Order: sequence, then C-alpha cells, then structure tokens
Amino acid sequence: MDRVTVVPPMDLYRYQTFTLGVRALARRYPFSVTSWWRTPAHNEGVKDAVADSQHQEGTACDVAFDPGTVPDAGPFRAAARELGLEVHPEADHWHLELVSNLY
Ligand SMILES: [Zn+2]
Repeated sequence: MDRVTVVPPMDLYRYQTFTLGVRALARRYPFSVTSWWRTPAHNEGVKDAVADSQHQEGTACDVAFDPGTVPDAGPFRAAARELGLEVHPEADHWHLELVSNLY
C-alpha cells in the first residue's frame, strides 16, 4: 500500500504565501530564482547556510537580478514585506524568505 502524506493546512498557508509573494515580486523586478528547495544534506554543504534554513521547507529562495537591474534595497524590502517576505541581500544573490512569525 502506498504511503499517504498529509500536509497540515498551516504548512500550505505558509507555502502559498511564499510562492505567491515571489511571483508578485517577479512581475515587478527582473530576477531569476537560482536556489529554492534544499535537502538537509544539500543545505549542510552550502557555504554560510544556517542549519534551520527555510530552504528546507520551500519557504526561501535565492534570486539574481538581470545585469544592471539590481534595485534599491529599501523599496524592494518594502514591496516584499507587504507580501509577507523578508529580504537578505548578499554579494551574488538576494535571499527571500517567509517572515518567520507570519502564521
Ligand atoms: Zn538563501
């Protein structure tokens, strides 16, 4: 018999909020997603990754802007916050994740 996995609704709310937020930002800003879901084993091998990274729950992704289109961080953060997302700019990508205490 196949194993059935039941996803708790709260996980779905969190996941939907994240994915719809990324989609809304992608419609306004020219970026590509360069990293999204990670297994714990993969996450361990990522430089500077934290052990409880939301990449392991699918509620974080890394994005890279098209050349010459990196936005000012302030307005981008404000737009992301309205969608329930946090922004962490890093050297070669920006990390987006769901606000931890949203639900
Ligand atoms: Zn990241």
